[in-house]
Amino acid sequence: MIETDILIVGGGPAGATLATYLSASHISNIILQRNLSFNKPCGGGIRLDTFDEFEIDKKIIKKNVDTIVLVFKSQRIEVDISGTPIAIVERVEFDTHLRNKAKESGTVLYEATFVSVEIFDTYVISTMKKEGKYFKIKSRYLIAADGVNSKIRRIVNGDEVYSSLTHYTDIHSKQYTNCEFHFGEEVADKYYAWAFPHADGSNIGTLAASNQNYIKRLKVNLEIDETTIILGYKIPHFKNNIFYKNRVFFVGDSASEVLPFTYEGIYYAMSSAKILADVLIENQEPSEYEKRWNKKYYKKFHTLALLQNIFLRNNFMISIMMRLYQNKYIQQQMVEFWLGKREVTVDFKFFMRVLKRLIK
Ligand SMILES: Cc1cc2nc3c(=O)[nH]c(=O)nc-3n(C[C@H](O)[C@H](O)[C@H](O)COP(=O)(O)OP(=O)(O)OC[C@H]3O[C@@H](n4cnc5c(N)ncnc54)[C@H](O)[C@@H]3O)c2cc1C
Repeated sequence: MIETDILIVGGGPAGATLATYLSASHISNIILQRNLSFNKPCGGGIRLDTFDEFEIDKKIIKKNVDTIVLVFKSQRIEVDISGTPIAIVERVEFDTHLRNKAKESGTVLYEATFVSVEIFDTYVISTMKKEGKYFKIKSRYLIAADGVNSKIRRIVNGDEVYSSLTHYTDIHSKQYTNCEFHFGEEVADKYYAWAFPHADGSNIGTLAASNQNYIKRLKVNLEIDETTIILGYKIPHFKNNIFYKNRVFFVGDSASEVLPFTYEGIYYAMSSAKILADVLIENQEPSEYEKRWNKKYYKKFHTLALLQNIFLRNNFMISIMMRLYQNKYIQQQMVEFWLGKREVTVDFKFFMRVLKRLIK
């Protein structure tokens, strides 16, 4: 039986970040990562300041974006985000880089699949499968960093991560230099569709529905007639999120820690992992993780969920949102709220005043 203090299942942004901090504090840990060559389906857009915050080498950035474009029907609004640009990465390279950082700090990395767990009063025993053989690992805690299809969540909490299916495809006939967010019932229903620069070419996608009609319409709107393979992958909604149960912590997609409205998940997986790492390093009660996460993000996540419900409800509300976004001050406020200082609070009274003026 292999023994470690903390067993982390999943070596994506959440798992690899947690492992790095634990190792730096000499807490023994193992990452189980099913496939080291897994290229997580992703737009690969990350706020540039993530690289400084988590000391990640900027050499792996493929492209920088300092303008986002909001598109609704024929209307286009360009928003300057040069204060906090978005970096575009290739996920397989990014995740490998994060795992290597963890390894260099002392984490043990196995290319193996988590299979099952038995939970006892003061420890857990997990079974993993590697090259057809089964191994057992005893640890004080188990960490579910196994993403949106979390098997641990199914076993331990008896539910699935509440999610929607995205459709996405890589294109090479058109090179986007800005991150475009497309709104409207025709292409994005109550969410958004995107056209992002990608490591090699561009990446477009939508998280509107389980059929491919939305992405097909998006391709037509974007005048892309290149034949491409459309793939699907789930993305979590911030709903029924879970932090801890029976010696198992949840972090990143498995915990539904994806920012509503923007569906930004990489930064929040890493930041949530840092919150959890601090709790484990300080040997705090498990409930402290939820307390600290809520203190830092509850307001922001709930406000964005509320704004998404209000403004992406239908085309009429989207047209109101576009009118609001024409106002430079509102643009600045929203960018500040989304990408800026971490704990900024939204001035609701101000928004309600502007909304009333617009509706009159
Ligand atoms: C199409 C799409 C586009 C996206 N674009 C963006 C974007 O541009 N920017 C952004 O910030 N977010 C984006 N996201 C969201 C982002 O990808 C996720 O929120 C983020 O990857 C979550 O990190 P994580 O570490 O929690 O999970 P993951 O990155 O999913 O990592 C989980 C890891 O666990 C491994 N694993 C799973 N099960 C097992 C098992 N049984 N045993 C061993 N290993 C296992 C998986 O192989 C995987 O490597 C996008 C998501 C999708 C679907």
